[in-house]
Amino acid sequence: MSGFPSFDYRDGELYGESVQLSHIAQEFGTPCYVYSRAALVAAYKKFDAAFAGRDHLVCYAVKANSNLAILNLFARLGSGFDIVSGGELQRVLKAGGDPQKVVFSGVGKQPDEMRAALTAGILCFNVESEAELTVLNQVAGTLNKTAPVSLRVNPDVDARTHPYISTGLKENKFGVPFDEAEKLYASARKFAHLRISGLDCHIGSQLTELDPFVEACGKILDLLTRLETQGLTIDHLDLGGGLGIRYSGENPPAAQDYITALCSAIGRRSQRILIEPGRALVGNAGVLLTRVEYLKHTPHRDFAIVDAAMNDLMRPALYDAYHEILPVIANGGGDKIYQVVGPVCETGDFLGHDRKLALTQGDLLAIMSAGAYGMSMSSNYNTRPRAAEVMVDGGRIHLIRQRESLEQLIAGEKILP
Ligand SMILES: *Cc1c(COP(=O)(O)O)cnc(C)c1O
Repeated sequence: MSGFPSFDYRDGELYGESVQLSHIAQEFGTPCYVYSRAALVAAYKKFDAAFAGRDHLVCYAVKANSNLAILNLFARLGSGFDIVSGGELQRVLKAGGDPQKVVFSGVGKQPDEMRAALTAGILCFNVESEAELTVLNQVAGTLNKTAPVSLRVNPDVDARTHPYISTGLKENKFGVPFDEAEKLYASARKFAHLRISGLDCHIGSQLTELDPFVEACGKILDLLTRLETQGLTIDHLDLGGGLGIRYSGENPPAAQDYITALCSAIGRRSQRILIEPGRALVGNAGVLLTRVEYLKHTPHRDFAIVDAAMNDLMRPALYDAYHEILPVIANGGGDKIYQVVGPVCETGDFLGHDRKLALTQGDLLAIMSAGAYGMSMSSNYNTRPRAAEVMVDGGRIHLIRQRESLEQLIAGEKILP
């Protein structure tokens, strides 16, 4: 048993649904991301069903994995989208997403991104500062439109996650300080081209406990009461994303328990509820397939040098994140402790430290839980073309992104005349 439902062993071979991962490696090469359609659909349905009839919208956080096939799959299920750039808006529209289900987050929206979103007719802008309100009002005015806005409020709650992915503390760059929110709503009201629509927060990512979510929700509800007392109408509450997944030992709450906790905190209020899950929808629906290039034994360490690297999957280098690493052909467990590293010229280029594995040159490995913030954070560092992406669906295999070619990689560059 692998512990990952859509990627499991059959007769000693790791499969993605009903497809042998070794077969995908043969056909498309490595490194290669493989996603499971069934896992993506199941994750979405868990969130959606957990609201049990309450007015809601699940807005998938596109930055977790922005492949068009994945966006299209969620769009077909009725999902909304949380975007953070004009580029992500284009992807959502191209993938058949409904602009009326799009919320636009992020601290640094540019005027042309605002223009594109206003023209598309998105559901809401999650605004993070007074200066942004001013610019959005101007841009909407030049288009003769009214921009629907929420303020993203920083509730000053400790998400108890990695500091790089914690966003809801008062010292973080995100959101409007809690104590200034009322004042800012009052000034937002005076802008001719803005319409106050919601109230928003997002406190961080990979949260493995419910308490911080419930605490943030409580603060947001107090603020909602005060805003309503002042005569403001708020049509929706956006409670952000951030629910964690299991990478190894974590035990994050189930989507159902998370939503139930939020709904019961909100009680009988009439607002529509939005959430913005990213990682929890895609993280465990993907693996990164890689091949062992060389084994290198030194007096101090045993290294497995694989063909995937930090440019393909940055999370270990960036957050010291842990990903399970499994042999594609089971071999009865390890006798050696390996440092699983990539070919990039950085000591930080590792995929796993101290892994007990039995390895031979040429073996295939699957780096698990790589569906979120894997491909979307990948780069071309060391002039490495980005990996191919494949989706399995039962026994079918779909190439959803070709491996990048060296020509594509340097296409925009020019030598001086
Ligand atoms: C990143 C982000 C999300 C998604 O976070 P996950 O941890 O992937 O669920 C949602 N909302 C905002 C504003 C974000 O920045």
